[in-house]
Amino acid sequence: MLVTDTYQLIGHTPLLKVEIAAPHDVNIYAKLEMFNPGGSIKDRLGMALIQRGIAEGKIDAQTTIIEPTAGNTGIGLAIAALKHHLAVKLVVPEKFSFEKQTLMQALGAEVINTPSDQGITGAIDYAKKLAAELPNAYLPLQFMNPANPDVYQQTLGPEILRDLAGRPLAAFVAGAGSGGTFAGTAKALQAAYPQLENYVVEPAGSILNGGPQHSHRTEGIGVEFVPPFFKDVRINGIQTIEDDAAFHYVRWAARHLALFIGSSSGAALAASLRVAATLPQGANLVTIFPDSSERYLSEHIYD
Ligand code: PMP
Repeated sequence: MLVTDTYQLIGHTPLLKVEIAAPHDVNIYAKLEMFNPGGSIKDRLGMALIQRGIAEGKIDAQTTIIEPTAGNTGIGLAIAALKHHLAVKLVVPEKFSFEKQTLMQALGAEVINTPSDQGITGAIDYAKKLAAELPNAYLPLQFMNPANPDVYQQTLGPEILRDLAGRPLAAFVAGAGSGGTFAGTAKALQAAYPQLENYVVEPAGSILNGGPQHSHRTEGIGVEFVPPFFKDVRINGIQTIEDDAAFHYVRWAARHLALFIGSSSGAALAASLRVAATLPQGANLVTIFPDSSERYLSEHIYD
């Protein structure tokens, strides 16, 4: 495959049939989003946010992009900003991984840390303040920007449908941080499979199942408020996964699949096995592996 720039490598990731003994012999398929050039599912979003901002006249050649992010969206935005020669400032709670912050800086972005105990909400508030102070700043705000679910509805969902090549699909299982991946992909899939069941994955400590809010080691998923994108998508259940279970499957994937997956992927696999137990014999289930473990080695992801 000959390509002439890195940006062409965004999307078109493989769908892996995961070799695992799932309940009811359910077939689990995982979309391997670590194969995007920036290493995560959020490369798709970075490009979409900048392209939409340009199309809507909110970004010109002098605009500084400012965004609160747990990291992967920051890397995706920094890649898209390079393509369009734009400056980027990323506001990241300091607890997020050293590797992700280093990669954002390597791409030319400025990283500004906010205190971990203020969570993503603190980063959002700080980014808004910074944008108000700069004369020509654009804040894509992935947490409310409809470009977020839209890009997954337009790219990830149709890719999965193509990869399944007509196999019937019973369930879709995906983690939620902003909720864009889940909502957009679920919409595309449920349009093709009206009986589809959609399950959201969150780490224990996230609020969707009404559990108490607390910090967690699983990175990239978990919410502090209900994503606005959930309004117009069917949700059949919420799977709350303990950190230990997520990290168990991170180690399992390395040993059994020769695959390096991040903790949100581990949580997605743990949740998929639970959902499989509720499905008919031999049903097909699709999940998403958003990134790789390599960007969490400093956090001792395999310990
Ligand atoms: N996993 C990882 C590793 C992520 O970085 C993200 C994005 N924060 C997600 C899952 C969740 O994606 P979304 O924001 O679309 O819900």
